[in-house]
Amino acid sequence: MNIVPRIKKDESLISYVLRFIYANGYTNIRGFAKDWDASVSDIRNNIFNRKVLGTITAWTGIPVSTLESHSHNKWGRVPKLINRNSVKYCPSCVKERGVYHQSLWNIEPVTICLEHNELLLDYCVRCKEKISMDHFIMDVCPHCEGVFSYAKGPVISDPLSLQAQEWIQSLIRSEIAESDQLPILKGITVKEYLTLANRLSHLLQGCHSVANHSYVLNAFKNTKKYRSNNESAYHLHTNVYHLLDAFPVNFKNTMERISDLSPKIRNIKIKACLQLQYDAGLKPVFKLLAPLLYIPSHCIHKPSNPRKVPDTLQKHSHEATKVACAANHYIILDQEVPAEGFIRRSEAANRLGVSDKVQLNEFINNKLLTLYQFKKSQYYINEREFELFLKNVRGTYQADSKGRTLHEFLMQFRSYKLKLVELVEMILQGKIKPTCPVKNGKLSDVVFSHEELLSCRTLLIHRRRDQKGYTKEQVERLLKVDYATLLGLERLGILQPKEELFYTSGKRRISYYDPECIERIQERYLTIDQTCSLYGISKTVIQKCFREGKLHDSFHGLTKKYIVDRHEIERCLENRDLC
Ligand SMILES: [Zn+2]
Ligand SMILES: [Zn+2]
Repeated sequence: MNIVPRIKKDESLISYVLRFIYANGYTNIRGFAKDWDASVSDIRNNIFNRKVLGTITAWTGIPVSTLESHSHNKWGRVPKLINRNSVKYCPSCVKERGVYHQSLWNIEPVTICLEHNELLLDYCVRCKEKISMDHFIMDVCPHCEGVFSYAKGPVISDPLSLQAQEWIQSLIRSEIAESDQLPILKGITVKEYLTLANRLSHLLQGCHSVANHSYVLNAFKNTKKYRSNNESAYHLHTNVYHLLDAFPVNFKNTMERISDLSPKIRNIKIKACLQLQYDAGLKPVFKLLAPLLYIPSHCIHKPSNPRKVPDTLQKHSHEATKVACAANHYIILDQEVPAEGFIRRSEAANRLGVSDKVQLNEFINNKLLTLYQFKKSQYYINEREFELFLKNVRGTYQADSKGRTLHEFLMQFRSYKLKLVELVEMILQGKIKPTCPVKNGKLSDVVFSHEELLSCRTLLIHRRRDQKGYTKEQVERLLKVDYATLLGLERLGILQPKEELFYTSGKRRISYYDPECIERIQERYLTIDQTCSLYGISKTVIQKCFREGKLHDSFHGLTKKYIVDRHEIERCLENRDLC
């Protein structure tokens, strides 16, 4: 062994060993492997035992640790990471730097040369046969005598694919995802990434690739068709990256597309993803994905149309739900409860700081939270949805914020019968803005300023008017009449309260008037001045009409002024009766 070539910085050890023995006149690694008691297939796949490393050190003077850093020994235990018994390569790299094999090319998710933006080739472009390491280092295809370095790989210009490949190569280099490029996967290992990609490949199977819409993704590698292995790996990893990029937007969109598929196909996909909960290192990722796996059309909404249900049955079914969960709206999922991503209602009540789940059921019934029923009647709330809900209801954090507590606030509006669920709804709609003096506090920690108190009062007054109508004080102000006149108008049948509340003695306590009714009165009954300007008639003409009995005081002397009924004056105008 006289000739000792230099090992290249990024060269795989098998590439170097082959170049070394070829340079010294040997043509096959097999004989050496036998002498070394090593598996020839391991060596070809860049995995070397101590004995072999020692021998190569003796030949070349390169320290064992350096040699080993060029091998795949550290990846040996990661299943499916290394492309075994085949070679992929960048022809431009070989052309520029001479024939040697870069160790990165052996890694399955490494699919593009980022220096030349070329898709790696994993077959001979002339005869389409797969390439072995021994022949690659000779740079000649044994099947067609084509020269590997003459080839040219397809150029990848799509930015997303390149970005995905950058992320993957940095993951391989540092063995753990350190880059901020894909925050959801920060901290995962190479092995975990491969598991994730494999699970997600089932989800993506049958979808069109984001890198090329005419390419349909396949979950399984076709081991007989070597030609497409790197291409399919390229599409898979680009699409996995895309799925988790800009999280959760792309994931949600994909789930929406999947929701159109038949339940049978859809469930297989979702089941594959649900497996992620059992992959130890992927639990944090699963926690984020889990809520998105339950898409509305994937769920069966509980049929509850009370009008269609006969009375007796309705009562029965109502009681049945009461026993089961006491919330009227929930979504049934034909699934086992996942280990992560869902919490019980009691836990949710606890985190909110409300006493029990009665309040929580109110939130659920008002569709502020979703309740999911899993197999065996287990009811859960989606943790992510809940955390978002809590974040929104507790308002902004202000260490020194003061004001009325939640309890005091509700007590303040007791006369308006303000319920907690209604208050929460107003907060979620941004109408009331509480602050929270506790960082990441509970709903029970929030406080309300004086301004919020005032806006809540206004809201409740409006709400009462919408629900019940005007109070008599409001009607007096609007019609510019006193209480006696108001009662007089009621006697005349001009004004009718929409709702009346009576004391037990029978005396009326409070009455509400329909705003539309008040509007009609305002439009129909006019003062003389209003009549003049509206119809362009002089005051004297109108006064004359009153004297002659053509017009009558519609309020029958209840007010000091004459009040004109528009119906009457319009009739007169039609009959030309005024002059
Ligand atoms: Zn290259
Ligand atoms: Zn060939």
